[in-house]
Amino acid sequence: MANTKAIIITIGDELLIGQTIDTNSAWMAQRLNEIGIDVVRRVAVGDTKEAIWNALDEELTKAEIVLITGGLGPTADDITKPLLLEYFGGKLVRNQMVENHVREIFEKRNLPVIERNLMQADVPDNCEVLFNARGTAPGMLFRKEHKLIVAMPGVPEEMKSIMVAHVLPIISSSFHSDFIVHQTILTAGLGESFLAEKIVDEESALPDYIKLAYLPHYRFVKLRLTGKGKDHERLKKEIEFHKNQLAKKLEEHVVALDDFTLEQVLGKLMTEQGKTIGIAESCTGGLIGHKLTQVVGSSKFFKGSMVCYDAAIKSSVVGVDENTILEKGVVSEEVASELAIGAMKFMKSDFGIGVTGVLGPKMEGDVPVGTVWIGVCNHDKTITQSFHFPYGRDKNKEIAADVALLQLWKLTQGKI
Ligand code: ATP
Ligand code: MG
Repeated sequence: MANTKAIIITIGDELLIGQTIDTNSAWMAQRLNEIGIDVVRRVAVGDTKEAIWNALDEELTKAEIVLITGGLGPTADDITKPLLLEYFGGKLVRNQMVENHVREIFEKRNLPVIERNLMQADVPDNCEVLFNARGTAPGMLFRKEHKLIVAMPGVPEEMKSIMVAHVLPIISSSFHSDFIVHQTILTAGLGESFLAEKIVDEESALPDYIKLAYLPHYRFVKLRLTGKGKDHERLKKEIEFHKNQLAKKLEEHVVALDDFTLEQVLGKLMTEQGKTIGIAESCTGGLIGHKLTQVVGSSKFFKGSMVCYDAAIKSSVVGVDENTILEKGVVSEEVASELAIGAMKFMKSDFGIGVTGVLGPKMEGDVPVGTVWIGVCNHDKTITQSFHFPYGRDKNKEIAADVALLQLWKLTQGKI
């Protein structure tokens, strides 16, 4: 049996002109995919009656489920509700629960409750009202010829709350689909073509209902196994088996066997061992610190990062010897090493990272653009290495931060 098909329509001129990036449909597609629904099209249309009407007409011929976001607000540019009313032929009625909720929201904020806002509680009498805990505009669910059409507000947090509380459970219970299972391996240090060469045998041993995707991101490649099947438990076991086969072959290139970022892997490791990290970063401008603080619970293992951009600050704050800078240059192995050790001492941490580089567009002395020295240390040893990144400033910065974290991870694993 083929899976149930869904189509997502996002509404808004701002999406068409690129002012708002459509994150709603990406998120919705992921959630639908997890419960075995195939998203077959994603359509963005402007705020005109004709565009929305035509999109509905067309998409309803192609899928069992049509999910819509946007244009449910209280302003004149929000035309989705009157349009749906006309499209499905209902009449507006005031919903008491929504009205109370709207009043409560405004009263809590000490704002007057005006009719324009109360009108959010007027809903077509032929829809199922999906309560919006995060905002005023409720979701609306229509059923037509065994098809399901849901309209939700465009505000991402509101859409997500309605999806999780109502739409996904309703879809799961109304449509039976295959289960979908994903498993991920995070690898580092091998480009995707080399990875593919290494796992040729394991990849060809995959059954046709388990697919392998390569998702490269700078120095990392995520390998994602996706399986579809009716027997959930069996599928999970099979995917686990294939994941382990792949990981065995990839050995030292495997950073994580879960859908983790490198920062999360480091965070988990540090927290488990009760260890901490201190950083002195120059050309990455605090990005390494930013990445680590993205991890929930980072205060347990991240002591801090000193952004020491100026050479004098590298000496006066982090403690790099002025003579080292004079003799070896500010972008050098010795400075990277002294930055890492200086950070570790200053922060009284167990590990240190030091980064110094030239990101361009101009050379610094005779050091070519893209050169970055990275030092990582613990109390027993310091490892420094130079890298050459070939891209523009932004991308080089991003890669330098990732590589610095990767070097630290390798140090913790005894891989360097
Ligand atoms: P509101 O009550 O805020 O008017 P609405 O249902 O009318 O809600 P829109 O006016 O279309 O929704 O959008 C509200 C906000 O949500 C805007 O800031 C918009 O940028 C954002 N938004 C709308 N659609 C999307 C989308 N597809 N992806 C991400 N953000 C979106
Ligand atoms: Mg709006």
